[in-house]
Amino acid sequence: MDILQKALKMLLDYSLCNSCLGRQFAMLGHGIENESRGESIRLLITLMDNNIILGRHKTSPESMWTASTINPSSPTLEVLKLCNDPREENKQCPLCKGTFENIKTFVNEAQKNLKDLEYTTFLVGIELPLEIAEQEDEFKARYNVTHGESMRSQFSRDIGKLLCKITGKQVDFKKPEVVVLVEPFTKIVRLRINPFYISGRYQKLVRGIPQSRWLCGNCLGNGCEICNWSGRMYQESIEELIGIPMMEITQGQEISFHGAGREDVDARMLGSGRPFVLEIKEPKKRFIDLHELEEKINKYARGKVKVTRLCFANKDVVRKYKKAEGAEKIYRAIVEFGRNVSTDELKQVEETLSNTIISQQTPKRVLHRRANLTRERYIYEAKTKRMSQNRAEIRIHCQGGLYIKELITGDEGRTKTSVASILGVKASTLELDVLSVVTGDIK
Ligand SMILES: [Zn+2]
Ligand SMILES: [Zn+2]
Repeated sequence: MDILQKALKMLLDYSLCNSCLGRQFAMLGHGIENESRGESIRLLITLMDNNIILGRHKTSPESMWTASTINPSSPTLEVLKLCNDPREENKQCPLCKGTFENIKTFVNEAQKNLKDLEYTTFLVGIELPLEIAEQEDEFKARYNVTHGESMRSQFSRDIGKLLCKITGKQVDFKKPEVVVLVEPFTKIVRLRINPFYISGRYQKLVRGIPQSRWLCGNCLGNGCEICNWSGRMYQESIEELIGIPMMEITQGQEISFHGAGREDVDARMLGSGRPFVLEIKEPKKRFIDLHELEEKINKYARGKVKVTRLCFANKDVVRKYKKAEGAEKIYRAIVEFGRNVSTDELKQVEETLSNTIISQQTPKRVLHRRANLTRERYIYEAKTKRMSQNRAEIRIHCQGGLYIKELITGDEGRTKTSVASILGVKASTLELDVLSVVTGDIK
């Protein structure tokens, strides 16, 4: 069946608008809008009708001029006048119910919503009622449409093209910063603003700050006597010290902090810091001066936390950082022994721990939130420095995931080997610092 015959058959049964007619042949011809396609097909049919009438065919095939009577373009009207067709005019298109006429309204509405937003890329998403999509599928099957496209993609493209022109922004199919959601049949236009990511490194320069918000375990945030009605176990967190200024600048709705691993609340994070990515949900501002942001955060965190190397990032970085929890670390622990310890004994600790695999059962103190299993972690190097008769500094360069406090105490035999077991003495950690997170390809 050729294009014309197919189109005629469609138009005989349905009073399609030009957009819906053209859409059934969307893959034919390039750089033409469906509306023009439909108009051209209809025009050609009109010419053929006219020819038949002028030739005064007594039995003009009904099909020929029936087809051109719906939503008539002006040449069609002329023909209709010629033959006094009584058929009613301007019937509503049964596929789109005339919604393609509202494209400009949707675009204006979208533009209004986008006005105060900073973005460079967008995508138009279309939500159609199920029955409309089903009707279109049935229609396509009935007329064996082989070169058509979906109503959804036509809406999306038509609106997207106009928005591009008006806003000067780019369409991005993979990672749009904002999605303009249009429901053509209910005339609802809304935005879904995708998250914005900034990565960097943080140093934690004081002890006693958890990485993420920590609610009071007793009242779960509602406030009680134990937490002095604050609802919190710790008043501050790295997440908030970094995130709150970030929220202010981006005018986001919510933040989500992703660190490449985390240190204990009472451990500092020194050296070049720990990589992190902050996800800001529904940000209104994205055109950010990173130097300004860095200054603002560091001022807000008042020397407790310091950020450096801020970069624009994306979701992939979050995934990468989650994997990086196993990154190599260098720790410094200040250890106190139950008795005086000699330099020779400290040497023995160095030698036993360096290049050794430690077998570690999940520490008792984290058992309530982690599965009880035994891990093996490698220590590349251990170095000791005597500080007093019963105190020493131990530096440990190890595989990620080794619990250092338990490496010192032995955790009642759950960690083997431990500093305590090597010397047969009680040992505890007075202070712990992370000196370096060795992240390889992570910046
Ligand atoms: Zn239509
Ligand atoms: Zn409480």
